[in-house]
Amino acid sequence: MPNRNSACRWLLILSVLIVPALLVATAPASADAGFRKWISDFRAVAARNGIRKSTYDKAFAGVKTPDPEVLRKARFQPEFKQDTWSYVDTRVHSSTIEQGQQLARKYRRTLDAIEKRFGVERSVVLAIWSMESSYGNVFNYPDRLHYVPRALATLAYADRRRAKFARNQLIAALKILQAGDITRNELTGSWAGAMGHTQFIPTSYLAFAVDFDGDGDRDIWKSIPDALATAANLLRKNGWKTGKTWGYEVRAPRNAKRYVGASKTLGQWRKLGFKRPNGKDFVRPGEKAVLKMPAGSNGPAFLMIRNFFILKRYNNSDTYALTVGLLADRIAGYGGVQQKWPKPKGVLSMDERREIQVHLRALGYYSGDIDGNIGSGSQLAIRTFQSRSGLTPDGVPSQKLLRTLRR
Ligand code: CA
Repeated sequence: MPNRNSACRWLLILSVLIVPALLVATAPASADAGFRKWISDFRAVAARNGIRKSTYDKAFAGVKTPDPEVLRKARFQPEFKQDTWSYVDTRVHSSTIEQGQQLARKYRRTLDAIEKRFGVERSVVLAIWSMESSYGNVFNYPDRLHYVPRALATLAYADRRRAKFARNQLIAALKILQAGDITRNELTGSWAGAMGHTQFIPTSYLAFAVDFDGDGDRDIWKSIPDALATAANLLRKNGWKTGKTWGYEVRAPRNAKRYVGASKTLGQWRKLGFKRPNGKDFVRPGEKAVLKMPAGSNGPAFLMIRNFFILKRYNNSDTYALTVGLLADRIAGYGGVQQKWPKPKGVLSMDERREIQVHLRALGYYSGDIDGNIGSGSQLAIRTFQSRSGLTPDGVPSQKLLRTLRR
């Protein structure tokens, strides 16, 4: 999802339920004139909120048209909800785990200092960095970044559902610009205004941003220490419990479904028959925990303790918070989920798709990225391999193909 703030997440959910009312259906020329008038009119609102004329002029210099890509993304209606299994699988896999471990070594001193000051474990901070920006990989695609004041003005002007949100965020963005932490052209973000390595919307930035490298600027765009400390600060200020996990995977007894969402102590859950798959006991049986079964009765069950709900302050989604927790565990060297997720028969995992690409590359059929994304390049390589191996050249990655490649 493009935005990780709970308020914005809520807006996104709303936008799925209700068709967003985009007002710009008129001819482009009149839309542009209307947009310019909106910017001109909003100047007074900005002034009432402490934005100087010079800041406003600088922010909107050269901004004459709505951001068409923002309009397109605001209209986008997800057709289906991703399965929990698939959501987790595409975010917790060998590449995100290994990269997290490498970056833990590279930024060891920064992460030591973050743990000391904010009490948030490095693995959690790294997992959030991965989830939010693929460890900063989003910055390798500058054409996907939006100039935040233009993006927010576009939403405020054209998207009735998000107008209030966008106006508030725009004021906050102008305050950031006015404070001088970032230059005008560096004030970039997602289409909905989520910014930097850890994807903070402007109001969250104002509440939580930290200058952790000590250069005087709170720069979550270019400073890894600032970005990671800002994420840790958000968790700490929302009540993160240092040294505690987010929850426990458990084997659920039959008929567990009726308890989903209930809150009991871990000791009470144990009496009801909920057990950790590794056979270990709960360390603090008096601790309160809520039962979640994200994939229903046929999937793994989890007992969530306080830190899980703190993670949801970053993004108000159970699946998001669970995935951060699972990725953090793997980065820290702990195991993954023991029980099987229900998944469609024959579907390949991210690591299996990557393995197919590795084999195809070793055999000389493929020269693209090992990213698990089976696009046209991978499909062509699969077809070539299939036809030379006497298989039907359909270009489709499958378990059978993987087995053949392994031989
Ligand atoms: Ca700084």
